[in-house]
Amino acid sequence: MSTIFKKELSNEQLEKLFNSDEKCFEFLAELKWEEGFTCKKCGNENYCPGKTPFSRRCTKCKSEESAAAGTIFHNCKFPVSKAFYIAYNVCKGKEDLSTYEYARRLSLRQMTCWNFKTKIQHAIQQIDTLSAVEKSSINKILTS
Ligand SMILES: [Zn+2]
Repeated sequence: MSTIFKKELSNEQLEKLFNSDEKCFEFLAELKWEEGFTCKKCGNENYCPGKTPFSRRCTKCKSEESAAAGTIFHNCKFPVSKAFYIAYNVCKGKEDLSTYEYARRLSLRQMTCWNFKTKIQHAIQQIDTLSAVEKSSINKILTS
């Protein structure tokens, strides 16, 4: 999650992501395996394509990892492109849109948007806590 929107995306790229589930999975897969594929189960580095879009399947133990596994988009009950839209706006958006507004724009139920927005905010809080701890430990090193 912390790395998903770290890099700046052009409006054109965003437009593509918000309109295509495929593109979202491709984007997640690129980020996830930026430094190459390593099987979580056996450590093998060879893979073949899995069953879901842009998933990878270990050639040795046959375990499959989806592009969304380990991200907030995992087990998302609505189209991942819509989830991307909400996640991007919560992380980077200049205006704080209400869950009613997301529901209207994306043709989703307000409760669905509320649940997902809460999930993202929770994830952001965790990142903030983590970096606060990191910062304080850096300060300790610097001051000791
Ligand atoms: Zn494996």
